[in-house]
Amino acid sequence: MEVIRDIKEMQAIARAMRMADKTIGFVPTMGALHKGHLGLIRQAVKENDISVVSIFVNPIQFGPQEDFRRYPRPLSKDLALCRKAGVDFVFCPRPQDFYPSGYKTFIEVKELSDALCGACRPGHFRGVVTVVAKLFNILQPSCAYFGQKDAQQAVIIKKMVSDLNMPVKLKVMPIIREKDGLAFSSRNIYLSREQRKDAAVLSAALHIAGNLVKSGIRDAHKIIRKIKGVIKAKKAARIDYVSIVDPDNLRPVKKITGRCLIALAVWIGKTRLIDNIIVTV
Ligand code: AMP
Repeated sequence: MEVIRDIKEMQAIARAMRMADKTIGFVPTMGALHKGHLGLIRQAVKENDISVVSIFVNPIQFGPQEDFRRYPRPLSKDLALCRKAGVDFVFCPRPQDFYPSGYKTFIEVKELSDALCGACRPGHFRGVVTVVAKLFNILQPSCAYFGQKDAQQAVIIKKMVSDLNMPVKLKVMPIIREKDGLAFSSRNIYLSREQRKDAAVLSAALHIAGNLVKSGIRDAHKIIRKIKGVIKAKKAARIDYVSIVDPDNLRPVKKITGRCLIALAVWIGKTRLIDNIIVTV
């Protein structure tokens, strides 16, 4: 496995691989790798001739009051996990090379970026889309892997790829969870022991919602109210949003029909966690 910091070097390696007709599987991450990331990484390794994982804590997707500075960066542990998973290249660009002074170009996916997390984190998806577009340009991968954990991100990236005619296939992999249902996240390490227990309420509430749909309830409002009630029972929890939307255009739905995305963001103490499920009727 090789660790590449230089953008031009990474570009040259990827170009040489493409010229040799090798498929490139790409997994963009911010590091602090866990089993959720490893699901994507293993898939990329399995399905492609060459696998590339990027580790880059992207400054432009964090708001001024967010956790950019304290975001975990356990690089040597991450590299060991990538090596063990059979990754060929880990790309860790230097922030000052990635966004040199005078950097001016940003990509925005309208409307989809204003829903759900976009409403609470202005500018977040503009940062995400821009970093992913730049990484796609550098690597020109055959296939890129994203997690359903960040459902809105996956929808927005799909739209960017389609709107900008980018020649990359996208795969969205299922959410990997801890035993008690909590979705793996790099931010889970911020949680105290007590908060960690309370954090299971996100997936528990979604599970209850899934069962309500199974039992025949179709009124989205009723389901949202139930989810909020379950979450509010935990003292440490503060709800950012609970929404039921069309999984393709992220518009709120009133009645559950076809496929619906039930998504939520909840603060547990000072840590903001997200989770979601898709229900199908
Ligand atoms: P991040 O490092 O948080 O930017 O995440 C990198 C990729 O890993 C994104 O596509 C996430 O959706 C995905 N991911 C993060 N956590 C999980 C999880 N628990 N299950 C599946 N995918 C995940």
